[in-house]
Amino acid sequence: MLETDEWTQLIEFCELQKSAAPNQNQRRWLVFANDFYCRLTGESFQPGNYIWLVRRDSYGRVCPDCGKLYRTPRARYCAECGHNIHVIA
Ligand SMILES: [Zn+2]
Repeated sequence: MLETDEWTQLIEFCELQKSAAPNQNQRRWLVFANDFYCRLTGESFQPGNYIWLVRRDSYGRVCPDCGKLYRTPRARYCAECGHNIHVIA
């Protein structure tokens, strides 16, 4: 999972690669992205477009019951364990 500044670095890196070789196909672009992601995290993401799922900002808070991330920043319900966040208005 990438923090916002790391995600920005990844996108800037990919844009640089695309501008340097605009005729390369998307598969090649994903190889560049994966290489960069590996340098940051020591792991590679799975083939396909899973790169879009590694951005921390796309998820919500950590569930106090199970420790998993809420599926979106606005989620009030943990899809993993069913915990609800009660919002006091
Ligand atoms: Zn939970």
